[in-house]
Amino acid sequence: MTQPARTQVVVVGAGMVAQKFVEALRAKDVDGRCAITVLGEESLAPYDRVHLTSFFSGTTPQELLLGDPALWDDDLVTLRTSTRVTRLERPEQVVVTDVGERIAYDHLVLATGSSAAVPPVEGRESTGCFVYRTLDDVEALRTYVADRALAHPERQVRGAVIGGGLLGLEAGGALQAMGADTAVVGFADRLIPVQVDAGGGEDLKRIIEGTGVHVRTSTATARINADDDGRVVSMDYASGENDPVDVVVFATGIRPRDELGREAGLEIGPRGGVVVDAHCLTSDPAIHAIGEVACIQGEVWGLVAPGYTMAEIAAAHLLGEAPDFTGADSSTKLKLMGVDVASFGDAFATTPGAATRRGSHRGRTHHRHRPVLHVLHLDGRAAAAHRTLAAGARRRHRAPA
Ligand SMILES: Cc1cc2nc3c(=O)[nH]c(=O)nc-3n(C[C@H](O)[C@H](O)[C@H](O)COP(=O)(O)OP(=O)(O)OC[C@H]3O[C@@H](n4cnc5c(N)ncnc54)[C@H](O)[C@@H]3O)c2cc1C
Repeated sequence: MTQPARTQVVVVGAGMVAQKFVEALRAKDVDGRCAITVLGEESLAPYDRVHLTSFFSGTTPQELLLGDPALWDDDLVTLRTSTRVTRLERPEQVVVTDVGERIAYDHLVLATGSSAAVPPVEGRESTGCFVYRTLDDVEALRTYVADRALAHPERQVRGAVIGGGLLGLEAGGALQAMGADTAVVGFADRLIPVQVDAGGGEDLKRIIEGTGVHVRTSTATARINADDDGRVVSMDYASGENDPVDVVVFATGIRPRDELGREAGLEIGPRGGVVVDAHCLTSDPAIHAIGEVACIQGEVWGLVAPGYTMAEIAAAHLLGEAPDFTGADSSTKLKLMGVDVASFGDAFATTPGAATRRGSHRGRTHHRHRPVLHVLHLDGRAAAAHRTLAAGARRRHRAPA
């Protein structure tokens, strides 16, 4: 008896969520009904973008690779790196690559993630301006800072990060780790405004300034100035002030890489992202979208945990199950800069009866001598989580080192 033909599943994008999707599909597809081809434009197999900043403390690209490498040796899985998809031809069920190759699919999964959004600041194209999204970005940043340090041995390299969110603080930490005199410049009236309220922002600013990083809040960057060679030399602010600077990192948000879906006529969300239903299916029943490219429940999630949930859902749905996306963990942590921030619950205490508790102290309790800022916004659920966290911390404190 002849075997039924395998479903050809093509995944566009070889990032964190694509990796999770392939893992989930191979785990569930015990009869080997699907053959999977993953097409990624980066030169590396999927890596841990969340821990990209550890590159500056010596983690190698190979150490950042995700999961069991054997996944890519599976007979039913083909990973093609350095391959960019430039077009979808939905009627023919074909994707076209940057070298004009046409790859047919029975089912397509869009996992193209996001790109860094750069605001239209004059001078943003100058040499010495970077974004902070990929291994190529951080390698280029490190090379440039090292080059500037050689060019100016008499002084510290001066670095500025535009953006005072979580990513901005990570990039600030990276610049500082490279020995740069670092400033974080944010438009909002406080740091990480999405995660903490005014009081939390003030505490965090104090702690971060204590690490030697300058913080400018409520500051709009008006212009980046370059020398005759096109290299960044200073930044002008809307206030009329000016800072000398050698390197600028934009950490001003992300934009879903929805261009393939958009050009192919898939439904797109009002603020971008390929619209999907609760099963992560797009307006084309032969195409799922997962991760940061997807607009689900009207929202694009810029975090990895919801993307992983979508990956599991899409894999199950492809095999005939019907799990629904009902939300995901959106708690966040600030990594690096030696500060641990936890913010969870109703972040601005808008729920009736919600209260805010804040604690900031030299963390001799559960993080050995590291500054710890807890911003705990307590509604019913978060209060329970807080109790669990506190109990865990007490247990860790009691445990022998
Ligand atoms: C420095 C940093 C720190 C972060 N920290 C956290 C954190 O602490 N917690 C958290 O939850 N999240 C964090 N994130 C966000 C997290 O990394 C993302 O949510 C996650 O990577 C999303 O996965 P994804 O697969 O949707 O997108 P990505 O990981 O971006 O993968 C998409 C891939 O698709 C490729 N691609 C795009 N278009 C094409 C095309 N046309 N053809 C081929 N390939 C294409 C891209 O090059 C990319 O490799 C952080 C991100 C950064 C940059």
